[in-house]
Amino acid sequence: MTPNLSTAKSPQQMFGAVAKSYYANILDVDPKNIFSVSIMPCTAKKAECAIPTMNDAGAGQDVDLSITTRELDIALKSELINPLALEEEEFDQPLGVGTGAAVIFGATGGVMEAALRTAAYVVEGKNPKPDAFKVVRGLDGIKEAEVKLGDTTVKAAIASGLGNARKLIEKVRSGEAEYDFVEIMACPGGCAGGGGQPIRDGEELAGERGEILYAIDENNPLRFSHENPSVTKAYADYFVKPLSHVSHKLLHTDHDAWQVHD
Ligand code: SF4
Repeated sequence: MTPNLSTAKSPQQMFGAVAKSYYANILDVDPKNIFSVSIMPCTAKKAECAIPTMNDAGAGQDVDLSITTRELDIALKSELINPLALEEEEFDQPLGVGTGAAVIFGATGGVMEAALRTAAYVVEGKNPKPDAFKVVRGLDGIKEAEVKLGDTTVKAAIASGLGNARKLIEKVRSGEAEYDFVEIMACPGGCAGGGGQPIRDGEELAGERGEILYAIDENNPLRFSHENPSVTKAYADYFVKPLSHVSHKLLHTDHDAWQVHD
């Protein structure tokens, strides 16, 4: 079902391509001198950043190294660093601010919800209430929702966990169900329950972590992707417009060119 996939790269790969192009320009450094590291909830990201077609900025791998949050946790402990004892400070913001819509990408249904917020704006010409699409939240392995956008009803489906993804795909292939927009997360609960997250024996923390993401979203004055001033500036200064030649090259991928092995 490859032709049904969005061509948009994962956040990790967009970050890498942007770091070695737009950000290199801002810093005025040769992208070959940038070593980009991502810290991810995900073990699969290690394989993703090594896919040969993922070097679109032309300076080696767009993401040179991907480590998991569990590995970061182990590294901190091995250096006897206790983050709880460190003084609070803001993150560096080399590329500007992020929206609450981006934060919830980490929870199952979050990508769908963020996209619906912006789709509603595009269709209706005004922002919906930020929490208008809460119906797509929750830890059920398969969720279905019908959402009104203007005069159109969008049929949405969300699966998390690959067993649930299989069930959903079989429903679509057999003709039992038809959807306009489907979100699949390989890990139960989404990246909040990712395979690279710290493990606490006997505890399943995807739901708890997801709730934290929704709280961060709620407290962010920016709740809509299309209102992110840093992204607007990046398009104005570098990427021209969505699907321009440069954004197509750096932010999108050709899934047919991927070599996926069993
Ligand atoms: S859902 Fe799992 S496999 Fe997919 S990006 Fe998130 S952590 Fe990685």
